Amino acid sequence: MTVYRVVRSDEEWRRMLTPLQYEVLRRKATEPRFSKEHYHNIHDGTYVCAGCGNPLFSSSTRYDSGSGWPSFFRLIDPVAVKTLLDHELGYERIEVQCALCGGHLGHVFDDGPLPTGGMRYCINSASLDLIPDDG
Ligand code: FE
Repeated sequence: MTVYRVVRSDEEWRRMLTPLQYEVLRRKATEPRFSKEHYHNIHDGTYVCAGCGNPLFSSSTRYDSGSGWPSFFRLIDPVAVKTLLDHELGYERIEVQCALCGGHLGHVFDDGPLPTGGMRYCINSASLDLIPDDG
């Protein structure tokens, strides 16, 4: 059983999050490709969970996968997320959730760039907030 450190009622999540953030983070929706500000975001900083602020990805590990969703080749810390098998589309994918609040972030695939490890974290913009580096 997973115990999340950030626990809120469905009502609280609805109040806190935008409708799109709620659908993605709490209902596992996938946002349309090329949506929202982060796809074209060029600022350096740290991408955190939009639900709870958990630091997930550094902008230095972001790359353009062409998928239409923000893509990263490495987590800041492997324990920042939890992965689960997902058969929703009729084939197996690996879902990535925030380890602190259980929010749905996206999926991870093994077709990422080499030599950085070959991982592609395919993450919904709506699940992320960017904390820009100072200066
Ligand atoms: Fe979170």
